[in-house]
Amino acid sequence: MFFKSSKINEFRLWGLLLTMAGMGLMVLGTAGIVFWGQSGKVVAGVGLVIGLVAMMASLAIYFWAGMLSTSAVQLECPECRKLTKMLGKTDRCMFCKTILTLDPTHATITAEEVEEQNAAAKS
Ligand SMILES: [Zn+2]
Repeated sequence: MFFKSSKINEFRLWGLLLTMAGMGLMVLGTAGIVFWGQSGKVVAGVGLVIGLVAMMASLAIYFWAGMLSTSAVQLECPECRKLTKMLGKTDRCMFCKTILTLDPTHATITAEEVEEQNAAAKS
């Protein structure tokens, strides 16, 4: 996990980055023709192919993220009270980035304890 965000959000981010990179490569490749003329066509060809592959990969990641999010567990975050989704046994809340886990052995604090803390903070 590179960005300390929930896994679904991270997949989306990577999908977006790859799409941007792919489009950037295609634009740069095409710009190569303008700058270098005939020899730039090779650069343009390579750029177009790599750009296309990157776009396809990002599409696959988006698709995968979509598939994963349908199997994700939906729950109310005990910290910010928003409905979030988590993948696997441990994930971060999509909104407040709190680490959530379904595995009691990994939990440092239970949902009940968070409730108690929140209640204590309010009173
Ligand atoms: Zn939250």
